[in-house]
Amino acid sequence: MKLGGNRALITGADSGIGQAIAVAFAEAGADVAIVYHTDADGAAETRRRVEAAGRRAHVMQGDVGDPASVEAFFAQALDRLGPLDLLVNNAGIGSGGAEVAELKDEDLERVLRVNLMGPVFCCRAFVRLRRQHGGRGRIVTISSVAQHLPTPSSAPYGMAKAGLGSLTRSLSRELAEDKINVNNIAPGLIQTPMTQGRLDDPDKRRQSMERIPWHRAGQPEEIARLALFLASEAGDYVTGQTWTIDGGLSMQWGGA
Ligand code: NAD
Repeated sequence: MKLGGNRALITGADSGIGQAIAVAFAEAGADVAIVYHTDADGAAETRRRVEAAGRRAHVMQGDVGDPASVEAFFAQALDRLGPLDLLVNNAGIGSGGAEVAELKDEDLERVLRVNLMGPVFCCRAFVRLRRQHGGRGRIVTISSVAQHLPTPSSAPYGMAKAGLGSLTRSLSRELAEDKINVNNIAPGLIQTPMTQGRLDDPDKRRQSMERIPWHRAGQPEEIARLALFLASEAGDYVTGQTWTIDGGLSMQWGGA
């Protein structure tokens, strides 16, 4: 699967799944605009790996939850790399572990702003840009298996991720005439800095491995391969879908 000459903007490309997608896209021939929030060293490492694959990289600090910041990093990417063809909405944060009855307004607002409104702000900027450049393009969003499952003590996270499934369906219709595909990936437990604490704790690890029919965590590169398919010509006839990739985690009903 090739992305020859395409230009991709990837949010949260300094770490975990976003970094793996940036490297996979570069190896497939894309230039990459790397958006990071706080981890400048992680972004520099992504840049190094994109350039080692022989592609151009441009690193930008930004906050997906702030529409002014989103406008600024899209303008910068256009200026430095040229018109973007691909958008990956990957940036996200976990929610604090409080039940709804104990939820603080600011925690609810923060999780919805970064995980749900952020991708909306990025899609809006991307679509306006694509329409100025003749349409076409692809959007891949990273939600979570949490979009299908109950998430007690993390309701805002599940709510935001479920919203991304809906956003994907609506946008796929709005953008069909522009020939912009919109797809959503719902990963299960993937080994990244977000989940390392759980995987390093022997009890939590055992609990997770018992629940996952594949009995292992996924690797960021496994998500990146699916993102590459959806971003490439090979995925051209696919739009509006959520692709779950979870080692069977969401297939538990009826189990032992
Ligand atoms: P990670 O912590 O390594 O990466 C999160 C990324 O989000 C970081 O690169 C960070 O820079 C970025 N980010 C956070 N807040 C931001 C903001 N306000 N503006 C811009 N960027 C911001 O974790 P990860 O596991 O690689 O997570 C990537 C995505 O995958 C997230 O959306 C996460 O919800 C989703 N996901 C992860 C798992 C998993 O098991 N790791 C499972 C399902 C879904």
